[in-house]
Amino acid sequence: MRLYPAAIFKILLPAALICGAYIGRAYLNLLDDDLQVIVDNLTYLFCLVAVLMAYQFNRSRIMMASFGVAVFYWAVQRYLQVSLAQPDAWQSYLAISFSLPVLTLYLLLLPEKGIWNIYGFVFFLAFILLGLICVQLAPWLPEANEAAAEYYAPRPSENYVLSLGVTLLIALVTLVGAAFLYIRNDEVEAALLGAFLSLYLVLALLHIEHISASMCAAAALCLLWGLLRSSHAMAYRDELTGLPGRRALNEKFNMLGSNFTIAMLDVDHFKRFNDTYGHDVGDEVLKLVASRVRGVGGGGTAYRYGGEEFCIVFPRRTVDETIEPLERVREEIGNYIMSLRDRNLRPVRAREGTRKRGATRVGSDQFSVTISAGIAARSDEHPDAEAVLAAADKKLYQAKKAGRNRVAY
Ligand code: GH3
Ligand code: MG
Ligand code: MG
Repeated sequence: MRLYPAAIFKILLPAALICGAYIGRAYLNLLDDDLQVIVDNLTYLFCLVAVLMAYQFNRSRIMMASFGVAVFYWAVQRYLQVSLAQPDAWQSYLAISFSLPVLTLYLLLLPEKGIWNIYGFVFFLAFILLGLICVQLAPWLPEANEAAAEYYAPRPSENYVLSLGVTLLIALVTLVGAAFLYIRNDEVEAALLGAFLSLYLVLALLHIEHISASMCAAAALCLLWGLLRSSHAMAYRDELTGLPGRRALNEKFNMLGSNFTIAMLDVDHFKRFNDTYGHDVGDEVLKLVASRVRGVGGGGTAYRYGGEEFCIVFPRRTVDETIEPLERVREEIGNYIMSLRDRNLRPVRAREGTRKRGATRVGSDQFSVTISAGIAARSDEHPDAEAVLAAADKKLYQAKKAGRNRVAY
């Protein structure tokens, strides 16, 4: 299983939103009444926009979460604007605070299957049913026995009202969310986690004025941000390899100065490879090649140009400066023997004697691939990025003709 430690940084913007909302709430008193009404309804507005956008992008989990945030805010406004010392208010508090981690866990575990299909319908129904069950069940939690009563009792502290039981549950769901973010590297996980923590603060700091209006709005903004990020990734990232795609490359071209170098890379005899081992194994090999190309270094950014072709852009570098990193990538890829037994292809050993070229069968279930590359820099002859790319492509063709598994410049 591939893990993404850097994915944890995706939580930074939701965290900033939460901090901003927490600080901003102190100033809400300064607003006049009309503005106050608007601020009080911002959460509903953000949630409505998030639901519509989630619908547009076919993101069922964000859609349910946005709906959930709106209901949460409504419930807090409707039932929790009195002292929690009142038994009714305490029961409502328990019901809301218990539903939050349970429903969040449900959304985290749910696979994304889109909205307008039987899955979308069943998942949404189950979401609502689960919420209703939590609301019904929660008041019984402290009644189970004395220990449970203690566990779910409101905290005596004035600064933190949430019971120990629900606090632990929330900590557990936070850990699950962080783990999923680590594994899936998906913006949606970061958005769900951010919204969840924002709503948690409403419950934990309920005694603070304006906390629900500001933190619920922040929760909805986290979801909106997640939607924007994931639609951006949809447009700019290649799904198979995770590398930025053609659209991103074209944008990069517009931003290049007058001094840059471009390399085109192509997997050798890849058609033969697909014909021998099948498209699925071919896809796994592309992922592996992409992971090596991504780490090229030397100031280069890698893109999937299309098919089994990759493009690396080196701003402010001459051809000479890019040869060494490209040769290193070529050798790294060529030296790896991959095993078929393991569907998640991983290099199993280094190849001895590296002159074999193309997609080569090394053992009965082991093989390796090589790549060829062509490099060209901007010059008077090739004045813009498109021309440099064409020149690099020409060099690549020369590398192929000269026998493959080499870099031409
Ligand atoms: P050369 O060394 O001259 O580059 O030979 P080649 O076989 O690699 O070149 P060619 O362009 O004829 O074939 C490219 C092949 O790459 C065709 C197609 O089967 C395969 N391919 C392109 N995109 C994908 C993909 O996304 N997944 C898989 N598995 N194969 C792909
Ligand atoms: Mg090709
Ligand atoms: Mg090829």
